[in-house]
Amino acid sequence: MKDTAFEGKIMDILVKDGVLQLNCMEQTRMSQEQVFAQCRYEQIDNLGKVQRAYLEANGGFTILKFDSKKPGLSILPAWDNELITDQQAAPGTYACANCGHVIHDKVKKQASCELCSGNEWKNAVFS
Ligand SMILES: [Zn+2]
Repeated sequence: MKDTAFEGKIMDILVKDGVLQLNCMEQTRMSQEQVFAQCRYEQIDNLGKVQRAYLEANGGFTILKFDSKKPGLSILPAWDNELITDQQAAPGTYACANCGHVIHDKVKKQASCELCSGNEWKNAVFS
């Protein structure tokens, strides 16, 4: 029996407009760290810069970047303080540590993320 849901599907979207597509990551068994590593490989240090990250049917990645500066979740490894300190902060902008959803309202930080229900917010970076 064929699974028609997957027929004709040639790629999965892992990141859409700077936000991790957690359902898709679960389906494709990709971890946050694996997606971040692919973005870093493309010289991206901020998830907000990622317009699309596709997981191709052959297992390869295709990453499309925004041309303009975008605030978003820093995807540098947490232990690399030196580089993280160099990143330009986006004042008054926060990114969900789980999915990368960006908010511009300090009050919303008190609540969980509207996209993934995550509770951890990080100061967004700008690049
Ligand atoms: Zn979230």
